[in-house]
Amino acid sequence: MVRIDLKEKSAGESIDLSAVLAKQKAAFNTRPNPSWAERKANLKKLGDVIEAHSAEFQKAISEDFGNRAYEETTIAELMIIKGGISHAIKHTKHWMRTRRAPTALQYKPASNNIIPQPLGVIGIISPWNYPLQLAVMPLIGAIGAGNRAMIKPSEYTPRLSDLLKRVLATVFTDEEVFVATGGVKVAQAFSGLPFDHLIFTGSTSVGRIVAAAAAKNLTPCTLELGGKSPTIIDESANMDLAVPRIANGKLLNAGQTCVAPDYVLMPQKNIEAFSDAIIKQAEEFYPKVAGNKDYTSIIADSHYARLQTLLEDAENKGARIRVAGDDDKQQLAKERRVPLTVVTNTTPDMKIMQEEIFGPLLPVVASETLKDSMQYVQSKERPLALYWFGENKAKKAKVLNETISGGVSINDCAWHVIQEDIPFGGVGPSGMGAYHGEDGFKTFSHMKGVFEQSRFSQGKMMHPPYTEKTQKMLRLMKKIL
Ligand code: NAD
Repeated sequence: MVRIDLKEKSAGESIDLSAVLAKQKAAFNTRPNPSWAERKANLKKLGDVIEAHSAEFQKAISEDFGNRAYEETTIAELMIIKGGISHAIKHTKHWMRTRRAPTALQYKPASNNIIPQPLGVIGIISPWNYPLQLAVMPLIGAIGAGNRAMIKPSEYTPRLSDLLKRVLATVFTDEEVFVATGGVKVAQAFSGLPFDHLIFTGSTSVGRIVAAAAAKNLTPCTLELGGKSPTIIDESANMDLAVPRIANGKLLNAGQTCVAPDYVLMPQKNIEAFSDAIIKQAEEFYPKVAGNKDYTSIIADSHYARLQTLLEDAENKGARIRVAGDDDKQQLAKERRVPLTVVTNTTPDMKIMQEEIFGPLLPVVASETLKDSMQYVQSKERPLALYWFGENKAKKAKVLNETISGGVSINDCAWHVIQEDIPFGGVGPSGMGAYHGEDGFKTFSHMKGVFEQSRFSQGKMMHPPYTEKTQKMLRLMKKIL
């Protein structure tokens, strides 16, 4: 494919965001319902341009983090985007169709239909942890549903944000897709714009601020937030499978994943063996952490310090800390790298058991029965993800039926997130609304209900003046309802 010269448009210029939104809205109004051919062309050029610049995206993200393996960016960003675009290209034409809906007997022979319509301009605010994927996946839903979009990526990944701006500007005009780079001030101004829909991915605390800003405009919001995602390991679990899967879920992107297993619940008698096994597993994945190109650095000094504080607090309150490998601590700190750290003898007063960890620290909570584990989970804020490892079907059904979380993976971690045929989203403090696949299409569409009256309608029997005939009609209708 033809490479595009990225020097054509420069990033970071000061821009009046309200003016960009006004232009996008005006352009939308001239073409409020793009055809399938136009949407497909947009999806295709989005996929092509990202693929063409994939090596630059890998480099920019790695430099923003300090280090992130190119393979990890391929697995957790580029492949997900490719899957999302292929799925959208395959199915959007069908999702766009007018759906015939049933008409209740008393209203026949009228008919009902649902017409999906683009909303207009979608605002997208994205975080730093998967900075490409979490900006582009909502964009796929937005443009597949026929909208225009403005994106505000994170200030923690400035290279990626600038690159994304320049790359998208080579295939979309500012009136189609616009990227607003900058810091928190830009983010605040952005979240106060009267978009037709705003999707925010980030922390629960900022999510509250963004929802309040959007509420001033009555802008509907999808909030993709974080939280503490539990992992319950049942006695029936196959530990040879569970341990590498939990280790991989925790260590991908050095634990800086919204759906990383935050902590583990398991019977006390199994904790020692589990700790041994997962430490050994981490050492097999990463024989050395310092200098290892496969292992991601913590995004910023402030986040590195936050993780150290969590560990100090836990240790001061009686936790036992075990660190994988024997890397030089000073070197690790210099590289902002944190090896897998298993924390046992945990108690509820430890900060590590209260806030989202977002790093490779794995606390283990002793929990003797499924009932105990479920009570523990139910007593906390509803998590974004829940993981259950085991083979016992009755217990699995109980967990699925009686716990509430955004999503679930059984016998693995995080994979539910990249399934395009199921919704991805949180619940309560972990989020509001969902996207990916058809759920994304619906989130960024107005599903307009249309009632079409028949010339043979009996409705006139209910017009005033109300007579004996009306009474009869009402009695008949009551019987039907
Ligand atoms: P964050 O909330 O600090 O920032 C996210 C975005 O919000 C950034 O673009 C930032 O510029 C913007 N922002 C910051 N302050 C703002 C304000 N006052 N008003 C408006 N916008 C503002 O989150 P983060 O640190 O970038 O990401 C980590 C968090 O995101 C974790 O809690 C993680 O669980 C969550 N997360 C959730 C998902 C998901 O899909 N549910 C995915 C990734 C990360």
